[in-house]
Amino acid sequence: MIPAKGYAVHDATSPLVPYSFERRDPGPKDVVVKIAYSGICHSDIHQARNEWGGSIYPMVPGHEIVGYVTAVGSEVTRFKVGDRAGVGVMVDSCRECDNCKAMAEQYCTQGMVPTYNGRDKDGNILQGGYSDTIVVDERWTYTIAANLDLAAVAPLLCAGITTYSPMRHWKAGKGKKVGVVGLGGLGHMALKFAHSFGAHVVQFTTSESKIADAKKLGADEVVVSKDADAVAKHAGSFDLIVDCVSAPHDLNQYLSLLRLDGTLCLVGLPEVPLPVSPFSLITNRRSLAGSMIGGTAETQEMLDYCAEHNIVSEIELISVDRLAEAYERVVKSDVKYRFVIDMATMA
Ligand code: NAP
Ligand code: ZN
Ligand code: ZN
Repeated sequence: MIPAKGYAVHDATSPLVPYSFERRDPGPKDVVVKIAYSGICHSDIHQARNEWGGSIYPMVPGHEIVGYVTAVGSEVTRFKVGDRAGVGVMVDSCRECDNCKAMAEQYCTQGMVPTYNGRDKDGNILQGGYSDTIVVDERWTYTIAANLDLAAVAPLLCAGITTYSPMRHWKAGKGKKVGVVGLGGLGHMALKFAHSFGAHVVQFTTSESKIADAKKLGADEVVVSKDADAVAKHAGSFDLIVDCVSAPHDLNQYLSLLRLDGTLCLVGLPEVPLPVSPFSLITNRRSLAGSMIGGTAETQEMLDYCAEHNIVSEIELISVDRLAEAYERVVKSDVKYRFVIDMATMA
């Protein structure tokens, strides 16, 4: 076993504290990554605080992981020692079901194996990226081009792929009007991708303080969602709206903005059900959809697209002693636009 250290929560109400544990010895297909940076996703907070239920403790959160390869198994072909590498939200799946064969492992019929807050096939508890090292099968490890700032790449491994995938699936691009709800970690990547793909993008935000940034990040229009009249001006006009909000909010307000055959895709995961009126859906034959991260091939495609188009996340780099402060600020929507932990500060 490989000794590892990180930061863990021991129950739903305690803070992150230093924690020592072990990683498995690398098998023939495994890559050992020394973690340089780890992003803070709102999903880390939902799970650390058991907001979705079923959390497993002690829990080292973190699924936006980047670093450098320190060892590779004998059958690894895509990595060598010293390479940059990324790890995201999942680390394994059954590999045999139709969805896995189609490289949509996040929808594995047996359930994908999450990076943390889950167990590997032998029943061992898995731990995430707020740590110094991780061992992952090559298929779930991604190459990162040298031209991108490594710390700012970390959020691409979850916030990036989670927004890239639905934008591609519903063909956000030239001639399409696309909305993004919530300008946090996911929202700002949704905005960057929709803009980069050539769509007309409207950012919805509850935070007036984010209007100028939204425009800089690529929004053609910004609407403060508390202003019902400003929202209603866009009624029946969107092809696609990607909802990145982490807390309960009114979906019917956004459904009413969809044109004929438009889609509201949820990626945000508030902990309670959100009421939907059937009347919001039958008008304009609207669709309400959801999307979960992206498969391994699409994640690599997204990272390669970002390298080609020079896209990274807007980050605030923090030391490990600021974890509690970062969590509180994310919950208060006071994040511009992703906290990334410098794991070197753990030493
Ligand atoms: P985040 O950085 O905290 O961003 C969420 C944003 O939602 C906030 O910045 C805020 O934006 C807006 N918001 C917050 N509370 C609100 C409220 N009460 N009403 C309206 N808007 C509100 O979170 P994140 O890391 O981007 O994650 C967003 C959600 O996606 C989380 O629930 C997370 O668990 C989920 N997630 C899902 C997947 C997936 O595979 N589907 C992957 C990763 C994360 P404004 O200030 O602009 O209003
Ligand atoms: Zn995430
Ligand atoms: Zn499968």
